[in-house]
Amino acid sequence: MNKKQRALKIIEELDRLYPDAGCSLTYKTPLQLLIATQLAAQCTDERVNIVTRDLFEKYKTAEDFANADIKVLEQDIRSTGFYRNKARNIIACCQKIIDEYDGEVPDTMEKLLTLPGVGRKTANVILGNIFNTPGIVVDTHAKRLSNRLGLTKEQDPTKIEFDLMKIIPRERWSRFSNQLVFHGRAVCNARKPDCESCSLKPYCVYGQKKLK
Ligand code: SF4
Repeated sequence: MNKKQRALKIIEELDRLYPDAGCSLTYKTPLQLLIATQLAAQCTDERVNIVTRDLFEKYKTAEDFANADIKVLEQDIRSTGFYRNKARNIIACCQKIIDEYDGEVPDTMEKLLTLPGVGRKTANVILGNIFNTPGIVVDTHAKRLSNRLGLTKEQDPTKIEFDLMKIIPRERWSRFSNQLVFHGRAVCNARKPDCESCSLKPYCVYGQKKLK
């Protein structure tokens, strides 16, 4: 079985396991998802969802964030870690959205990448979940699982993204990323992957080696 055929088998199995795998961040608007995704860097989605419950009550629009007192915003998001950088980027990002995009979150990779603090990962989250444009989100789970599964040998998220784009059908990019997150949490943990009970094992390079 070549890599592409294995990828299709993995997709088939992920569909069976996680038919409804969606984004784990809580949001109601494109702006909320943009902010939540920025906060999720080096932080769990669960923690971000706790923080944004109050945050989105306090700051409702791009203007609210752009005009925030940075010291106050830092404290509002402190428990997500790296809060100084995140606060600075959120304010600058919202300022740019107001100045250049009429207060609306832009809808293309090119434009999203012009926003401070927004990289390909955040842009793909927005494109996939808001604008129905397929995008592969390479977070810590996708990075670990795609390496273990033998779908890439890269460590750099952008290189992983481009490797996966070659073997995963385009219409599946967003869902596939979400499913890797679900499987990473449920079975293929960072420290102790449960290969014995994992149904991806027949198609997984790491699993096959480990159980030989
Ligand atoms: S077989 Fe093991 S390494 Fe491969 S996906 Fe399953 S748990 Fe992860």
